Amino acid sequence: MAGEPQADCLFCKIVAGEIPATIVRESETTVAFRDINPQAPTHVLVIPKVHHPDAASLVAAEPQIAADMLREAGQVALDEKLAGSGYRIVFNTGAGAGQTVFHAHAHVLGGRGLNWPPG
Ligand code: 5GP
Ligand code: ZN
Repeated sequence: MAGEPQADCLFCKIVAGEIPATIVRESETTVAFRDINPQAPTHVLVIPKVHHPDAASLVAAEPQIAADMLREAGQVALDEKLAGSGYRIVFNTGAGAGQTVFHAHAHVLGGRGLNWPPG
């Protein structure tokens, strides 16, 4: 069923505490943790606790949780003191755009100059 934990999903396992992660924030509906392969001095992933394959599926099914994810991403940026210098929130969607984990997640990137357009 949509939203149910998936046995083979890495991020569902992080939510369940079955795989360790460096958690920086948690809300009733979301978890934020450091990316294992950081692409910037700050690289945090914000994920919903429920399983949806990507951000568009999440917002279609559970819009309040998508809003929670964005709020938490903004809070991570404040916690990491990125608000002044600027930061980027990224939703890679589909393998062709670099998505490798098919559980919705926002990347929060900052702490260095960020080029536009991204590669
Ligand atoms: P995607 O490529 O799907 O947009 O992002 C998935 C992200 O998850 C990648 O940036 C990758 O480094 C990160 N990642 C993959 N496996 C793990 C893990 O076991 N722990 C953590 N903290 N991050 C992971
Ligand atoms: Zn999942």
